[in-house]
Amino acid sequence: MTTPPRKAKADPCPICRKPSQAAFAPFCSTRCADIDLGRWLSDRYVIPAEDDEADPPPGGGRQGGSDH
Ligand SMILES: [Zn+2]
Repeated sequence: MTTPPRKAKADPCPICRKPSQAAFAPFCSTRCADIDLGRWLSDRYVIPAEDDEADPPPGGGRQGGSDH
């Protein structure tokens, strides 16, 4: 096997494309991590409203009480 002499280049920050830091991997800073988290939350909040009350979603052990 031939191992490349160069170090494994980490993927850049998916938010700003800057070199990611190990402390904030895969992001470059906590700010970008927060931005990505915000996108995640906003994406999760977008739930398609279906007119189907006959099958309620399982909301038993959901810990969704995080309020900013
Ligand atoms: Zn970044």
